[in-house]
Amino acid sequence: MASSERRYFANRFQDRDGQTILQYSEGKISDPLYSRIRSEAHKLLKKCEEGFERSKDDRDCSVYTGTAGMALLYMHLSNTLFKEDDNGKQGCLKSALKILEHSQDSLRGKRVTFICGDSGVLSMLAVLYSKMGLKDKSEECLSKLLSLSDNVCRDPLLPDEVLYGRAGYLFSLLFVQQHLGDEKINANVINQVCQAILDSGERLAKQERSRSPLMYTWHDKHYVGAAHGIVGILFMLLQTLSTQSVKANLGNIESCVEFLVSEQFSSGNFPSSLENDTDKLIHWCHGAPGAVHLMVKAYQVFGKDKYLSAAVKCGDVIWRRGLLKKGYGICHGVAGNAYAFLCLYKQTGDSKYLHRALKFAEWCFDYGKHGCRSPDRPYSLFEGMAGTVYFLADILEPHSSKFPAFE
Ligand SMILES: [Zn+2]
Repeated sequence: MASSERRYFANRFQDRDGQTILQYSEGKISDPLYSRIRSEAHKLLKKCEEGFERSKDDRDCSVYTGTAGMALLYMHLSNTLFKEDDNGKQGCLKSALKILEHSQDSLRGKRVTFICGDSGVLSMLAVLYSKMGLKDKSEECLSKLLSLSDNVCRDPLLPDEVLYGRAGYLFSLLFVQQHLGDEKINANVINQVCQAILDSGERLAKQERSRSPLMYTWHDKHYVGAAHGIVGILFMLLQTLSTQSVKANLGNIESCVEFLVSEQFSSGNFPSSLENDTDKLIHWCHGAPGAVHLMVKAYQVFGKDKYLSAAVKCGDVIWRRGLLKKGYGICHGVAGNAYAFLCLYKQTGDSKYLHRALKFAEWCFDYGKHGCRSPDRPYSLFEGMAGTVYFLADILEPHSSKFPAFE
């Protein structure tokens, strides 16, 4: 236990117990907490913008640690923190556009995913141009985005996971659909990408005689989590339910979810990989905070209580061990862990989970005051402050909150 205890702070917040004074009702957070969250988000945003400007590296245009992450934050803020403020809203969209147009010039054609590759920049630009009425430019980005699909489906060396693989490309297509409507992306393309992911998983499972009909690796390890592993891949597939290849393989997908449930630790956490049976990491990237999203989705799709129970167990271990010493970010930090509670809240309507998410938000108000180690990219969306701002803006309307670049 000693090694894992060093990874997180003891959670001294009181859990929701019926005694706690309600600062929300029917999913609406009330004042003074609502205004407090807004003002903390604004304060942190200002710091983040200054820090980002100072330390900006134009060579990194990823959503994960680079400029496109900041653009995604601005797009999000235009719909949340600045929703009622027309000037602020336009300012956000302009900032996002400026960043993305600049990033577009340095796309290297090497990576294909939303979070780490070209498709993130292209899909965001397609959405922004369309919202600004620049149809031709939007179409141009869309066709560049879709032209990557051949390579995504055919390159045998491409992994399937979310950060660098096919599932991460699939998210870019879903992002466009979410913002511009399903008809913007040819259903055939989505079908082919899903089929490639399913074929690849089936091939490996057969080759390894796995207990699961679908199996995936990244760098020769059977990662489980949302960033590099099976959880993230299945979650993307289950978000494309209307797709023919997914419909035809629901049985295999469910068996794979079953397999994952059998790997859940008694603590409620999940291993980071099948090779590693130590119960250590409580991150979105590795462990329960990523798995909760898949388990809730599996419950919605397959309707079995055991998937919801698995998600609830995730929620309990994240509450106990989720105030991470790694910091406040969304990939492996407190804000990312809080999204697990928002996911459970959206599914169950149980205010216990909103309470927990709000307590983690409160923890983020004291950004930098707990003695956490500073991440390599302290202002970035996935490792740093931009992600925390994103979360604080999102929790203002818990019912519409979504984990960035994933949900
Ligand atoms: Zn991480």
